[in-house]
Amino acid sequence: MTYEPEARPPQHLTPCLYTRLAMLVDLHTHTWPASQCSEIRHDEYVERCAALGVAAIALTNHGSIRDNLALAPRLAELGVVLLSGVEISTILGDFIVYSPDLEFLDSLHAEQEPLHRREVPDHAAVVWAHPAAGGGRSGSSYYRGLEEMAAPLIDAVEVFNGNWPADRYVTAAERIAAGLALPATGGSDAHTVAAIMRCATEVEIAVELDGGGTASTAALVAAIREGRVSPWRAPPAPRQTDRSTGRVRRSLLGRRRTGEERCES
Ligand SMILES: [Zn+2]
Ligand SMILES: [Zn+2]
Repeated sequence: MTYEPEARPPQHLTPCLYTRLAMLVDLHTHTWPASQCSEIRHDEYVERCAALGVAAIALTNHGSIRDNLALAPRLAELGVVLLSGVEISTILGDFIVYSPDLEFLDSLHAEQEPLHRREVPDHAAVVWAHPAAGGGRSGSSYYRGLEEMAAPLIDAVEVFNGNWPADRYVTAAERIAAGLALPATGGSDAHTVAAIMRCATEVEIAVELDGGGTASTAALVAAIREGRVSPWRAPPAPRQTDRSTGRVRRSLLGRRRTGEERCES
């Protein structure tokens, strides 16, 4: 029996007014001076976003929205939507809180107590960043079973982090996300310009077919909370042969300042 497609849609169906737009968005970046550990100046951030041609990017500094306020209008002039989040470091690890409510984000601190669910408004989403790598500023470490304490606090798990690319961190994060049945995300955790977009998240944003609707932090929060996200990372740098020695070596691109070399991410 062969499948015969219907020539016309059934009459009882109303016309579709919405569709989903898949966007690749770096959900984890840091700029200077809001994140003192970042080398990325405002001009460099704007130039890099323009050069990469991104439609949106999330700026997630440690306990500060100061740079978001400065960069959002500059990026908007280029047609780039700045999504807002703040990274907090706690005894359970690091968490990125996304919200369009900048006043709420401004109430968070670089180091603080874990955010309990009752403290997280409906307009916010919480992602457990680099879970197996521990807390960058709090100094907390991951141990098996920690996810049971973190589970009630989070909406998703960051499985691809540009500073922690080793298999043991990725595999553990994937296990945590799968075990908790939570969506998975990716972010570069960029502290240098070259690192932006080395990891990212494919975000399905609901947009109206008539052209209304676009990327926004509110749309990102909804996508995370509803599981319309999936992690992505750039393929590893190709192995190259050093002509002078004949030895195979990795490109240095993307290997500088890895998580192991940093104390804050
Ligand atoms: Zn970070
Ligand atoms: Zn971190």
